[in-house]
Amino acid sequence: MLKPDVEDAGMLLFQKLKIHNSEFIRLDEKLSIEGNVISGLCESRRKCFCWICTKSKVAPKHGHTIPRLELCAAVTAVELAEAVSDALEFALQEIKFYSDSKVVLGYIQNRVRRFSVYVDNRVARILKNASSEQWFYVRTDQGTRQISARSLKNSTWLQGPSFLRQKEVESFDFVEDPETDASEMYAMKCTVMLTHSLGTERFQRFSQWSSLVKAIMNLKLFVRHSVTQCEKVVSVQDYLNAERFVIKQVQQESFSEDISCFQDKKPLPRNSSILSLNPFLDKDGLLKVGGRLNRADLDKSEMHPWILPQKHHVSTLIVRHFHNIVKHQGRNRTEGAVRSGDYWIIGSKRLIASVIHSCVKCRKLRGKELHQIMSELPKDRVIPSSPFTSVGVDVFGPWQVIERQTRGGLANSKRWGVLYTCLASRAIHIEIEEEMTTSAFINATRRFMAIRGKSSEFR
Ligand SMILES: [Zn+2]
Repeated sequence: MLKPDVEDAGMLLFQKLKIHNSEFIRLDEKLSIEGNVISGLCESRRKCFCWICTKSKVAPKHGHTIPRLELCAAVTAVELAEAVSDALEFALQEIKFYSDSKVVLGYIQNRVRRFSVYVDNRVARILKNASSEQWFYVRTDQGTRQISARSLKNSTWLQGPSFLRQKEVESFDFVEDPETDASEMYAMKCTVMLTHSLGTERFQRFSQWSSLVKAIMNLKLFVRHSVTQCEKVVSVQDYLNAERFVIKQVQQESFSEDISCFQDKKPLPRNSSILSLNPFLDKDGLLKVGGRLNRADLDKSEMHPWILPQKHHVSTLIVRHFHNIVKHQGRNRTEGAVRSGDYWIIGSKRLIASVIHSCVKCRKLRGKELHQIMSELPKDRVIPSSPFTSVGVDVFGPWQVIERQTRGGLANSKRWGVLYTCLASRAIHIEIEEEMTTSAFINATRRFMAIRGKSSEFR
């Protein structure tokens, strides 16, 4: 409402707007399905209402629900009110907004619920320059929608709807938010974990077990040097300590439940993956295999190796490390090396097999031999012909044979065999030679041809 005591100001306004006998202004917001229609109505001193301006928008064909369209209409009403306020040379005392959408009014009155981004942005725009107390409900049948150009003259658009004259404003119930959708619900869950672990995901950066241990060792040395200002002298014990530190981090991450059971002096859960290993915690807090080898003549570390999970990067690094130590031997040798290196990896066989399978050197060493494609067979081997037409010749031997018995002993001599092979049928003929001379070979060949017939080709 305008300042009721300043009549000049009201007159000035309506002179500007070419509306007479009016002093007060009230804005009304309406929505039609075809488009958004906003009308501003002037209320005169004698309870007379006048239409000031209207703004409408064409609703998009799809993608918008009715509540969203009505929310857009509410935004337009606020923008229109701001435009009218800016056009006036004095401040408006009161502005009231009316909507027949209980959903939109529910959005505006909301103080608790969170909306989707679309609704949230528009409600924020509405509440930027207008408070929720300025919004009122009006029944749909009291609205000013669906008016043709002919009936505009006598319509409520120019005279104002009857509810504006009522002093009491109709109350309304809020409607359930139709925007409630699982995809647009916001849920936040905050979990605070207090952990003293380094985080083994950092170990993923290393591809070698030794480099990981050395990095941890250098890190510990650096911290020790920073605190105590002692000399940076590396010892074997530092390396072993770093090794133990890495194992402890992995165990605390993978077997946290089992370790907490040990610390609380409770029995391990039945579904524990290490239950069958009869594990125990050593004085450093590391999980070790119990076993039955206490009376064996072995090192303590070999009798009770550290337990490691199968699916962990550190386990893979250890297997790869010992696989290199045994010079890329097979699965059994690698597994033996891992166990004698004081590590017990759960399901190690599968892990070792996968490491060997992906080892480039092993793939090269165990690769299949390649064979060249043989050339075409010669003509004399594939064309049918009489036996021994084309022959291959070779000589084999010698053999020691006893030729005769003499008075003092045996007279030994040598014999050679001449092998004639038919190239077409693979038949063979063997002649005996008494000495490795040309004449002996010629004689053997003459004997061969006398039996088998003339050969046309020797290979
Ligand atoms: Zn290998």
